[in-house]
Amino acid sequence: MRIALDTFRRLGHPATRGREEILRILVESSIPLSPREIRERIPAPRPDPSTVYRNLTLMVSIGLVRSVALHERSRRYEAATDGAHRHRAVCRLCGRIESFQPKRCDLSRLESDIRGTLGFDVTDHSLEFFGECSVCGEKRAKR
Ligand SMILES: [Zn+2]
Ligand SMILES: [Zn+2]
Repeated sequence: MRIALDTFRRLGHPATRGREEILRILVESSIPLSPREIRERIPAPRPDPSTVYRNLTLMVSIGLVRSVALHERSRRYEAATDGAHRHRAVCRLCGRIESFQPKRCDLSRLESDIRGTLGFDVTDHSLEFFGECSVCGEKRAKR
């Protein structure tokens, strides 16, 4: 948190209460959140949705927050500051998002493929798996 707030100042953006709240909410959440979910967790008086969105965009541009696409209409956001590397599993039926820290995440072959094909140097990745969660699986089994 401290480091994050210093990052704001260093880059010439004041660390406003709204920005601190957004970052705190994202750091505390184990799954990426939509702008609406973030706003709902900010204690009153809440900033308007466009302010939340603007702050998220700013925080993505300075590297404090990552935006995550989970095949939904709206993007989700997660803190990029806690260092934990997570992958996500999204249920196609109920939309539940689960997040897990892989024991081992070795994509070096894939990354060297990308380097070979595109000449692109991979520095990070985001992996989402889609399928059916355990709750939906049980429901289906009972029918
Ligand atoms: Zn489900
Ligand atoms: Zn990974």
